Amino acid sequence: MSLKEIWGKKPIIISGPCSAETEEQVINTALELSKLGKVAIMRAGVWKPRTKPGMFEGVGSIGLSWLQKAKKLTGIPTAIEVATTFHVEEALKNDVDVLWIGARTTVNPFSVQEIAESLKGVDIPILIKNPINPDLELWIGAFERIEKAGIKEIGLVHRGFSALGITEYRNAPMWQLPIEMKRRLPHLPMICDPSHICGNRILLQQVAQKSIDLDFSGLMLESHIDPDNAWSDASQQITPAQFGLMLDNLIWRSSNPDDSKLNTLLITLREQMDQLDDELISLLSNRMKLADEIGFYKKENNVTILQTERWNLILKRALLKAEHLGLSEDFIVKYFEAVHLESINHQNSIMNSSS
Ligand code: PEP
Ligand code: MN
Repeated sequence: MSLKEIWGKKPIIISGPCSAETEEQVINTALELSKLGKVAIMRAGVWKPRTKPGMFEGVGSIGLSWLQKAKKLTGIPTAIEVATTFHVEEALKNDVDVLWIGARTTVNPFSVQEIAESLKGVDIPILIKNPINPDLELWIGAFERIEKAGIKEIGLVHRGFSALGITEYRNAPMWQLPIEMKRRLPHLPMICDPSHICGNRILLQQVAQKSIDLDFSGLMLESHIDPDNAWSDASQQITPAQFGLMLDNLIWRSSNPDDSKLNTLLITLREQMDQLDDELISLLSNRMKLADEIGFYKKENNVTILQTERWNLILKRALLKAEHLGLSEDFIVKYFEAVHLESINHQNSIMNSSS
């Protein structure tokens, strides 16, 4: 299948080691992956962006010849990460089929522009990973730079975002960001990289399934012939055979329910949902009108806008009520924080207006 065909189809399955380490490791991983019959593109990093010096930084250009051999043996097109003009030139010289821009590069417009310049006049698919920080505009900016360079096949890779605090993930998925990205750029395939989101093997399956449920176009998952002894990202890699099992256990869903009975049900439920959303908006507007009245009262009586005790009480009441209604604490807190902030903004403009 040509890469152009792969691009238009779902799912796009990409797999291979975090890093190319030895010729034997690359070839054996490729042979195992090809047995699955489902892998469209084989990935392997030959230049690795490492947080600290002295760590394994990739084998460099020599790895490209191993990938060429792997492709010859399996027929599977190859993909590597590029971060500089040199990387792009080397990849093109060595017949790499797909290039991806890593998370640490997408954050840097200078680097993305440099890559874009070196791609002018080249016909090769490019995948753009999300930036490390949760900044949608940077991700879109990277897409625009690559598109302006004349690249036709562009895909996006969701690999999670750096987040403060301890989470169960290596990089928090923050699903709302790829969802919004899909809304803004609906014509681009969105591929999930559960490996870098999870950082471990336990959560891979559920993250992959979630991406499918969110109508993603495919998966990029790290696999290694001997994961425990991988030279980078050992704890998140699985064997090609384990990846095969994982693929077998995933439930693929359709984004266009063609069963007309199902379709009618979906339409009815969505109509009800729209109705409720309309009601929620008018209720919120009524709530803000009350907040305005209270704002006038506070202004007249010279009372502060924020009263922490009252705010605590509002949250406590809401959480108590929501608990029995199947709404998570996390959601209720986020929702009330947003509503409370909007009330404060309303009262602030009343407090500071001259009338
Ligand atoms: C990788 O794919 O191995 C990699 C370094 O990914 P990211 O840029 O998402 O950290
Ligand atoms: Mn990796």
